[in-house]
Amino acid sequence: MVLAIVLIPAMNQNKLFAKTRLKLAIWYAGVMGLILSLCGFGLYHSIVHAHWQTLDRELETVTGTLHDSIEIKLKQPGRLEPTAQELLPEKQSQRHVLGAIYQGNYYVRLLNLSEQVVATAGFEPVGLPVTSPQTIWQTLEDAQGNRYHQISVTLHTQDNQDWGYMQMGRSLKDLDDYVQIVKLSLLLGLPMAMILVGGSSWWLAGLAMQPIYKSYRQIEQFTADAAHELRTPLAASQATVESALLLPQLEAEEARDILTTIGRQNQRLTALVADLLLLSRMDRQPSPLRRQMCCLNDIVGDLVEELMVLAIASQITLKLHLKVSTQVYVVGDEDQLYRLVSNLIVNGIQYTPPGGSVTVTLDSSDSYAVIEVEDTGIGILLSEQKRIFDRFYRINTDRSRSTGGSGLGLAIAGAIAQAHGGSIQVRSVLGKGSSFIVRLPKFDV
Ligand code: ADP
Repeated sequence: MVLAIVLIPAMNQNKLFAKTRLKLAIWYAGVMGLILSLCGFGLYHSIVHAHWQTLDRELETVTGTLHDSIEIKLKQPGRLEPTAQELLPEKQSQRHVLGAIYQGNYYVRLLNLSEQVVATAGFEPVGLPVTSPQTIWQTLEDAQGNRYHQISVTLHTQDNQDWGYMQMGRSLKDLDDYVQIVKLSLLLGLPMAMILVGGSSWWLAGLAMQPIYKSYRQIEQFTADAAHELRTPLAASQATVESALLLPQLEAEEARDILTTIGRQNQRLTALVADLLLLSRMDRQPSPLRRQMCCLNDIVGDLVEELMVLAIASQITLKLHLKVSTQVYVVGDEDQLYRLVSNLIVNGIQYTPPGGSVTVTLDSSDSYAVIEVEDTGIGILLSEQKRIFDRFYRINTDRSRSTGGSGLGLAIAGAIAQAHGGSIQVRSVLGKGSSFIVRLPKFDV
């Protein structure tokens, strides 16, 4: 979260990232808006559909009840018997039978076979046209523009002759009012939801781009650091060549000195380029290409032997402590593992004052092989301990400067350990010494 707060303003200052973030946010908001609109549209339609269904069923039931009650009283086609007339809703006594009609928004029309109105009941809509009963379901409008839903059924006499038709309708005012409210809430809710979606899209786009921006910044930093590191030996070689060219004459010994200096700078450049290539190869191919059984007893033994000369020259005691009685194997790239352990031992020697010691210990736990390189050197401040694994990072001490290292050693060691499924941990006390602990997955033979 803290990283997000720090990175987002910086990201907005970068034109490319700000533009991409805006584009991403617009896409997010567009897609979300479309989904929301579709959901709103679907919701609106299902609400309206459900209400129509209920309304139709209600109309059907009420019509059916009245139809059945009237039909048994009808004797002659087109003639309404007084007993049938009594059933029509004007009669208060029929309230219990046809209660729904008395709610005030139903009307009933009885039509003879020539489709002329014989009787009406319920509430009478003003200016509502009498339509043909041949169409069962109809939606009509009166003079004021109020809508009605109407059902038409055929009536028969007691002896099953066609009597005429019954039309029953219902005002749609309550449904129309309700639908209007739903429509309004959706129409008002959608822009509000879109404002929220827009805001959250902008925020989410920022969050999504952060890792990309972080690695972009790392690459930028890496390029700048690499260029800086390459420039130093190049500038030194150039200066050596220029000063040699200024001399009127070059003695053989002077020429050899100059060539030696240039050779040294070249070596530094070659080593630096090799390190950079190794790191970029490991970035592209995180797991080692070569996978062989590597015996860690041999690797630590060989390295202690090889680096003994350097340790003696630096007046450091280099010791090997094997805590295991058998061979410990890991699967991976032997060259890379040599490089990993050698970087740690060389650092131990370089960052330990004369008279100190460096101890390499090989141990193993249930599933891990553990290599520890412990020195009695200058130690590392707690705040620096995480950063020393960053590429080109060097602690600004006299000793760091004098070693002439490029700050890639621990980054390479960390990348190798990771590529082998392991890790490196550092424990250090300033002025007392450091201990680098490598854990690698063990291969049980
Ligand atoms: P360098 O090439 O500068 O040694 P590294 O990546 O190997 O680069 O180390 C990064 C920094 O970590 C060094 O500049 C040094 O300050 C610190 N460092 C590494 N190993 C040790 C150690 N054993 N004791 C104290 N400081 C160390």
